[in-house]
Amino acid sequence: MDVTALRIGQGKDVHAFAEGRKLILGGVDIPHEKGLLGHSDADVLAHAVSDALLGGIRGGDIGKLFPDTDPRYAGADSLKLLEAVADLVRQQGYVILDVDSVISAQRPKLSPYRDQMRENLAKAMGIPVENVGVKATTTEWLGFEGREEGISATAVCLLARS
Ligand code: MG
Repeated sequence: MDVTALRIGQGKDVHAFAEGRKLILGGVDIPHEKGLLGHSDADVLAHAVSDALLGGIRGGDIGKLFPDTDPRYAGADSLKLLEAVADLVRQQGYVILDVDSVISAQRPKLSPYRDQMRENLAKAMGIPVENVGVKATTTEWLGFEGREEGISATAVCLLARS
């Protein structure tokens, strides 16, 4: 393998909790008393993964690609945005080798939904589910996640020039 053809990407996102919103993480509608606020469906995990991919191709970020001032993206399914980003990665001549991610949330408990999130993200990116990691952690009641003011997610990816 030509190691000079490898790229890494990193993504991070944060969304605040709000009443009367759905909690969508990795495309899974998770039962909770509040959801995340955002112009799109506020899927903080899908956004972090999208930004990791864009980082890998030095392609800016999803804020630039899908501006929150654009009415086309109001309530958007973030898996569709991820799908578009994965297409862009391929158009730029890269393949997505591997993705890993972490969600920081004090509540709700996310482990029951992890495999479905992995499947949704893998499908959106067109890669095997084995190549997509999703982990969740609390922050031990510290910081904004710990105070349940919001949820953050980080993701990394490995790309190779095809
Ligand atoms: Mg976001």
